[in-house]
Amino acid sequence: MHLNPYGSYAVLLAASLANDWPEDRDGIVARTREHGMTMPFTEVDRDHARVRRVVDEWLTVVDAADDQARAAALNRQMAAAAAFPRLTDHDGEGWHLHYRDEHQALPEVLAAVISVGTALHLTTRGMQRLGRCAAGTEPGDTCRRVVVDVTRNGRQRYCSVRCANRSGVRRHRARAGGSGR
Ligand SMILES: [Zn+2]
Ligand SMILES: [Zn+2]
Repeated sequence: MHLNPYGSYAVLLAASLANDWPEDRDGIVARTREHGMTMPFTEVDRDHARVRRVVDEWLTVVDAADDQARAAALNRQMAAAAAFPRLTDHDGEGWHLHYRDEHQALPEVLAAVISVGTALHLTTRGMQRLGRCAAGTEPGDTCRRVVVDVTRNGRQRYCSVRCANRSGVRRHRARAGGSGR
């Protein structure tokens, strides 16, 4: 797996797990494959529940009140999860860096790659490029999906076209109602 300042697979993987939580361990592993991770994971007891805890902790980074709180939460998670960067060339991927010990179980691997990947994402693209769908901040809207902004202009506020459209319709109605009176 590759962790570099220009790749966002780890933070996108975390958002995918948060937004659409897999039913079982196999579902989590399948999700890591979809995001480009190739290594086999050591199976340990309660993998599924422990990865859920990793995701819940990561959500405190997503929901942090400001940049300072966000950095502090991420620093705590990296201190707990990450190890020395090390060079590896497993599975024909070519030489790349792992920010964790070898032979770790699924929850530990994900805790490390998600925290370091999120730190790389925020420091290279911008500290604000992670949050919840903007539609959910409007009264009566229930969308709580995580948005990872990897767009060029850094203006992604909605999790989906559907949410952007719903929000747009609401704004339009509010304007129309306001001007008619
Ligand atoms: Zn790798
Ligand atoms: Zn949404």
